[in-house]
Amino acid sequence: MGLAHAYALARRGRSVVVFERQSRAQGASVRNFGMLWPIGQPKGLPRQVAMQSRGIWLDVLRESGLWHEQTGSLHLAYREDEEAVLREFLDAAPRDGYECEWLAPHRVLDCAPLVNPENLRGALWSPSEICIDPRQVVAALPDWLERNYGVRFEFNCAATAYDHPTVTAGGREWTAGNLYVCSGEDFQTLYPDAFRESGLYRVKLQMMRSQAYGESVRIGPMLAAGLTLCHYRNFQDCPSLPALRERFSTEMPDYVRYGIHVMASQHASGEVTIGDSHEYDSAITPFDREEINELILGYLRTFLLLPDLRIAERWQGVYAAHPAELCWTARPAAGAMIAASPSGRGMTMSFGIAERIVAENLEETGGEGG
Ligand SMILES: Cc1cc2nc3c(=O)[nH]c(=O)nc-3n(C[C@H](O)[C@H](O)[C@H](O)COP(=O)(O)OP(=O)(O)OC[C@H]3O[C@@H](n4cnc5c(N)ncnc54)[C@H](O)[C@@H]3O)c2cc1C
Repeated sequence: MGLAHAYALARRGRSVVVFERQSRAQGASVRNFGMLWPIGQPKGLPRQVAMQSRGIWLDVLRESGLWHEQTGSLHLAYREDEEAVLREFLDAAPRDGYECEWLAPHRVLDCAPLVNPENLRGALWSPSEICIDPRQVVAALPDWLERNYGVRFEFNCAATAYDHPTVTAGGREWTAGNLYVCSGEDFQTLYPDAFRESGLYRVKLQMMRSQAYGESVRIGPMLAAGLTLCHYRNFQDCPSLPALRERFSTEMPDYVRYGIHVMASQHASGEVTIGDSHEYDSAITPFDREEINELILGYLRTFLLLPDLRIAERWQGVYAAHPAELCWTARPAAGAMIAASPSGRGMTMSFGIAERIVAENLEETGGEGG
């Protein structure tokens, strides 16, 4: 979110300084799948913002030369009720502004040869998803923004106060017409009162990465299966969804308890990122549950047959979420604008959201903010 705001401001000719309290960003943005996943957004404004964000991402990725692949995505169906939800979504898709189609099993396997063919009924194919490597992108964009747009970066520099126009960061003072607070899951350092009343909550996810398979083993499109249909809100209007939820509650209560749905993306060196689970606020601890990892891998094996899978890395990530807002914003003091993490969709949405927040803020402040 911070990088996206810096880009939106710098493109408008503003002078921008980014304060990052760590020596390099280590938050949710380097810990995710790298899935730019517009298909997951419900129709209307979220879908529009996702597609706008996708367009900006493509400009940034092409100009910066960073690795990305327009893989598209597959939602795989192995049971009748999963197929029913996907077909209902497809029926409404042209009207709701989604470009997608149903693929029969042989066509799924043509584009995704590692998908488990046993009992496969077909899949929803969407071409709009893009895979990036979050670690590479978040590490490289600061240099690119500095070289091309003159954005200045101050690492190891926590912003601790703002009394318009004076920012205190890293124990030094700076002058800024506006402070955009994109502090992720940190609700304490700046404007804790505003955060306390915001309704924001924290969500922990467990993630894994496989060994690097190189060029020889490619999964093709990014993959999701039945459990994901209950996770993303794009499927919320499908009449068969409640029955599917009910089946998962009965047949797979552990998956439901830990908010597990399973997705896979693959990056340049062939490593496959696998996740995830969802635990909330007071349930969040630094300690990962191996039980959750086993459940995730167990479900993964039902739809993706990775040869000789070895887990090279395990980690957790925490993001901030809001029960209702696409992105919770507030103006807690003169010149200050909080833009909270947009939940589990921040990689997908940040550039579109930042573009809107910055445009609106500059208009309202008569172009003074920056
Ligand atoms: C495991 C996981 C998987 C996910 N997968 C996806 C996905 O595939 N696709 C998708 O669209 N979304 C995904 N998401 C969601 C997405 O990653 C987040 O919504 C997004 O990264 C949030 O970005 P952010 O900039 O708000 O937060 P962060 O990336 O956490 O950044 C906040 C930064 O602010 C810094 N900071 C905080 N306070 C201060 C301060 N006072 N001064 C200076 N610096 C400060 C922190 O050090 C940190 O670097 C996933 C999230 C997780 C955790």
